[in-house]
Amino acid sequence: MSHEPVLNHFASKLPSVGTTIFTVMSKLAADVGAINLSQGFPDFDCDPALVEAVARHMREGRNQYAPMQGVPALREAIAAAYKELYGATYDPDTEVTVTSGGTEAIFNAVAMVIHPGDEAIVFEPCYDSYVPAIEVNGGRAIVIPLRYPEYRVPWDEVRAAITARTRMILLNSPHNPTATVLSASDLTELARVVAGTDIIILSDEVYEHIIFDSVRHESMARDDALRARSVIVGSFGKTYHVTGWKVGYAVAPAALTTEFRKVHQFVTFATNTPTQHALAEFLSARKGYPELSAFYQRKRDLFLRLIEGSRFRPVPSRGTYFQLLDYSAITDEEDMAFALRLTKEHGVASIPTSAFLYKQKAPSVLRFCFGKKDETLERAAERLRTL
Ligand code: GLN
Repeated sequence: MSHEPVLNHFASKLPSVGTTIFTVMSKLAADVGAINLSQGFPDFDCDPALVEAVARHMREGRNQYAPMQGVPALREAIAAAYKELYGATYDPDTEVTVTSGGTEAIFNAVAMVIHPGDEAIVFEPCYDSYVPAIEVNGGRAIVIPLRYPEYRVPWDEVRAAITARTRMILLNSPHNPTATVLSASDLTELARVVAGTDIIILSDEVYEHIIFDSVRHESMARDDALRARSVIVGSFGKTYHVTGWKVGYAVAPAALTTEFRKVHQFVTFATNTPTQHALAEFLSARKGYPELSAFYQRKRDLFLRLIEGSRFRPVPSRGTYFQLLDYSAITDEEDMAFALRLTKEHGVASIPTSAFLYKQKAPSVLRFCFGKKDETLERAAERLRTL
């Protein structure tokens, strides 16, 4: 009996997508034994009390499905945090949804908005899940370049890019991979651009608690007009050093949350139960995030001090746990080629920004994650100084 080679007839919905750069670089780092400053995750553990809390909730039998929208205590703690931090009122029952990571929340928000042929504006360098999420839903990503090294949003270009088909603008602050942050005047410009339109804003704020030099995080939640049309995405992985737990959330006005949950309930249904209970305890006690910026700013400054005297030139990092380093004094290789060679020959893995670019040629910079133990940063910097 002959079998039809079914894949010959299979039309990929994402023909130009390969394996995500984070998986590629983390695997390469593991294969060659390099220090992994590529994928963004801490190499130190979370607060043991958080692990203890999860274990306690498991022992107490909280091991079955959570409510689809998230456990009430966690949704209440999230709403209270938005009130306290940004003066924004979200109803925990109708406006807060717990998701299986920020990436799920981003996908749901795109899927609920984008019909085939719709346009969504993204800024490159652009976190690598955004464009595939738009395209798998039949949309078109309209890519606006942020230009190295300032990476400012060119608001005139945004204005010019809006058409009758524009349904969504995706923003990210603090920004991965450039480590820039949106300012209050960026939000004013954004409010002007979207006024009088039906455009929904997807605001990826997963690094909201990692922002440096006493700068204020300009959440969409601060501005009533923007908040009314925004799905704001947050993540506990970044805030509590538990990226592997994959717990995030979205806050949005009730009408948007209703649509968001329609997608969420059929993507993952619900997020795991015991971690939600434990995170609710931490969040309602305000554990962790008030000190997080200072914690990571010290690591940023340590990393910068350690690479002083090397031929890498830092681009200012204003937030996130990423640092771009310009390597043009070392080589004129393209970023992917250099990132691979740096990993294999010098034992330090990083992320090339070309993985986040669609239109522009990549500048000579690589993204390094400094969310690591001091000794890891010391060992990595020692290697970087030899180049
Ligand atoms: N957000 C992380 C980073 O930018 C990676 C997350 C992932 O691997 N999906 O490094």
